[in-house]
Parts: sequence; structure tokens; C-alpha cells
Amino acid sequence: MIEIKNLNVHYGARHVLKNISLNVKHGEILALLGPNGSGKSTLIRAISGVVRATGFIQLADCSLAGLSPANRARLAAVVPQTVLLPPVFTVLETVLLGRTPYLNFMGQLSEADREIARCALVKADALPLADRCVGELSGGEQQRVLLARALAQSTPVLLLDEPTAHLDLPHQIGLLELVHRLAHQENLTVLITLHDLNLAARYADRVALIADGEIKAEGSPAQVLSADTISSVYQWPVQVIPHPFQDTLLVLPSTTRG
Ligand code: ADP
Ligand code: MG
Repeated sequence: MIEIKNLNVHYGARHVLKNISLNVKHGEILALLGPNGSGKSTLIRAISGVVRATGFIQLADCSLAGLSPANRARLAAVVPQTVLLPPVFTVLETVLLGRTPYLNFMGQLSEADREIARCALVKADALPLADRCVGELSGGEQQRVLLARALAQSTPVLLLDEPTAHLDLPHQIGLLELVHRLAHQENLTVLITLHDLNLAARYADRVALIADGEIKAEGSPAQVLSADTISSVYQWPVQVIPHPFQDTLLVLPSTTRG
């Protein structure tokens, strides 16, 4: 569903993504993990077509280079890591922006668009915020609005850049349970960047570890999330143990580098 081959991105003279090749299958959750500055957000931006990249990116059998912005927006929705939302828009107005790729030339919203936006707000646990101005929301509330806007876009691909960063514990689990349902019951394809390796181990079908703009390891969480690999990529000692009562693993970072 997402196919990337030999992708390179430069910011000026800085070579930020180096020959990245990565696939995400239909109905799969791939977690992209790696240290700060390793290139995760740049990869999401390249797939969503907002940074210039060389190489090959295909979404649902269509080359990204040949897609119009509206067609791209019907295929992939993004929850960016940082975004400035118009502060005086209400939450409902913001989520309705997700319907933009479907509007007719008159730009009119239909009752169906409003119902889709309402459902997206329910899924993101943001319906009670619908009439509030975006500028007065907390970071976590804004993040749920961004998720709702992406869901309102009704795309087969979701690109989520640290979508749990500002969320409290119940909303982190709620978001990942929702993503899990969307992928495994509704066949959405999800590329998600996360810092919490334990959430990645529990919810991702596959993980890819990126450092210095290169994919260092890729596979199932059990294959990739070994103490040696994590310690080497993050340059920090960790232990990895089986979870005592769930079918997953636990990454336990050391308190010192030594
Ligand atoms: P991550 O999301 O993994 O933390 P990013 O993709 O945001 O990393 O950044 C990768 C590298 O590119 C970092 O070294 C960062 O400083 C640099 N970078 C990101 N955006 C820009 C930009 N607009 N101009 C120049 N350098 C950038
Ligand atoms: Mg980032």
C-alpha cells in the first residue's frame, strides 16, 4: 500500500534521508522508531508530498509524483508532529477541513460530510470539544482534533507523526486501540512514529528503526526490539524482558549510559 524505494531527502547541504526503502502492506501498522533528529518526520513529510525527495514513493499503486494534491489527500491523511491550527476556528470547522478533497467546485459541505466529521470526532473522543475554539485547547485536546481531522479525510492510508506525544495514559491507549481496529478491521494502512518502544511492541505489526537517516533494522517487534539493537540505535543501554502477563515485550532503559 505504501512502497518506498531509494528515497533521499536533502535539506540544503544536509543529507537527511539516505536511500530509504520501506513497504507497508494493506491493513498493516508499521511503527517507525528512532532517536530525535533521525529523519522520522522527514519521511512522513516526504510520503505526504510536502518535502522534495528523490527516489520512488507509491501509494495504493499510484506514483506520488503523478498524483494531484486532491488525489493524494484522498489516499493519505496526516497527523503532523507540529502544526499551527487557525486558533479562531472551532473544532468542528477544523475537522470539516478534512472533507476539503471531496468538495464540489462550489466548495459546499453536504450533510454526509457533517456526519463523517461527527463520527471522526466520536472516534477521536473529541465530540464534546466540537464548539470550542482550537486556540483555547490543551496540547492533548488539539492532538485529538488533528486525529479527527485525519479520520474525516476517509483515506485508506494514515500517516501519524508522534500522535501520542501530548496524550494522557487513557488517550494514548485509546488512540492505539483505535488505530489497531482501523488497520485490522477496516483494512487501513498505518505508518506511525512513536517514542514509546513498549507501545510500539504492543501495537505494531512491524517496526522499523531509523538512525542518521538510514533504516537500521526492520521486522516484527520481537525480531527488531532486542536489547542489542535498541542499545546500538539509541546509544543507551536497555534490557528487554517478556511482559509478565501480556503477549508482548518490555523495554527497560538503564538509568545511566555506562
Ligand atoms: P525526527 O522526526 O526523527 O526527530 P526530523 O525528520 O524532524 O527528525 O529531522 C531530521 C533532521 O533534519 C534533523 O537533523 C533536523 O534538524 C533536520 N531538519 C528537519 N527539518 C528541517 C528543515 N526544515 N531544514 C533543515 N533541517 C531540517
Ligand atoms: Mg519528528
